[in-house]
Amino acid sequence: MKIAVLPGDGIGPEIVAEAVKVLNVLDLPFEMESALVGGAAFDAHGHPLPDATLQLAKDADAVLFGAVGDWKYDTLDRPLRPEQAILGLRKNLGLFANFRPAICYEQLVDASSLKPELVAGLDILIIRELTGDIYFGQPRGRRTAVDGHFPGADEAFDTMRYSRPEIERIAHVAFQAARKRDKRVTSVDKANVLETFQFWKDIVTEVGKEYPDVALDHMYVDNAAMQLVKAPKKFDVIVTGNMFGDILSDAAAMLTGSIGMLPSASLNAKNQGLYEPSHGSAPDIAGKGVANPLATILSAAMMLRFSLQQAAAADRIESAVQSVLAQGLRTADIYSAGTVKVGTREMGDAVVAAITKTTKG
Ligand code: NAD
Repeated sequence: MKIAVLPGDGIGPEIVAEAVKVLNVLDLPFEMESALVGGAAFDAHGHPLPDATLQLAKDADAVLFGAVGDWKYDTLDRPLRPEQAILGLRKNLGLFANFRPAICYEQLVDASSLKPELVAGLDILIIRELTGDIYFGQPRGRRTAVDGHFPGADEAFDTMRYSRPEIERIAHVAFQAARKRDKRVTSVDKANVLETFQFWKDIVTEVGKEYPDVALDHMYVDNAAMQLVKAPKKFDVIVTGNMFGDILSDAAAMLTGSIGMLPSASLNAKNQGLYEPSHGSAPDIAGKGVANPLATILSAAMMLRFSLQQAAAADRIESAVQSVLAQGLRTADIYSAGTVKVGTREMGDAVVAAITKTTKG
């Protein structure tokens, strides 16, 4: 089982180190190799996604990714900015389906920004299409950019587009995921205003006919944003485009207490995947040893389940995370009175200890 480990920038190296520690204690035959990505790769090699890094990712069964980005790169031309590395990996590996579960752990109900009764027991899955939409349309302005901006330009635009096969395949992913859950899919669009999303809605409806056992409804993205903070438990699986999914999944993240808790998986048609926390590189807390590593550790669990066919090992990690939360251990982002504040490394150590204990037990 070959894993490419790409820690990236900011808190990336700190949190990925903890996930690697957890993987190592499982005693499975992993081959892990690390490479630079993002700003770190730009500093060393002049490009955020060097060829060697891309090749390592392509040759691996799975990629464990930290995060990329820092404000100091904001004046670079867009193709050289750290965030382009993640877009390049998604495109080159064909990672079209992004799974972002938002689960509110019982022990963290009070850390949510919503009232406990609205989030207790929350378990929703946002499936975001990842390789189409406005992020990959034709941009106007890049050619004239100076230091990443457009002095003197009269306009800039990006085009939103989706093809039929792109929508069909993500719809199938959503319906199949729903079959393993509560059998409900909400497709989120903006069909009242955007042609692209009328097309989206029509095709999701067509695909839905192949899944008569799964209930499908449609919701405009503005309403979906409202419902997510009003009554989030009404959702089971949400499927949506790249940009709406980006925004809604961050909103859903906060319902669970902290973005520091949320893993994600991005898969291609061969189940090869890139696994990363839903949050960014958090430059504001980088190097301080306070970042929450649980989103990355839980991403490693998703990697074991989806790409490496090691569901039992994934269960062990997820149970260990529940156990450290039950012990009252909290990083600063989820800390509340009466719990024990720990740093990044202590949290990783506690997960390792919980796994070791169950192995011995
Ligand atoms: P962010 O997610 O990095 O941080 C938002 C807030 O959440 C910050 O206050 C941060 O301290 C906190 N936070 C994030 N992760 C945390 C963790 N594990 N533990 C505790 N607190 C945590 O988003 P941002 O500040 O908007 O972006 C920072 C940089 O990250 C930017 O350069 C952005 O482009 C980049 N980014 C990268 C990715 C990625 O690599 N996939 C995703 C989003 C943002």
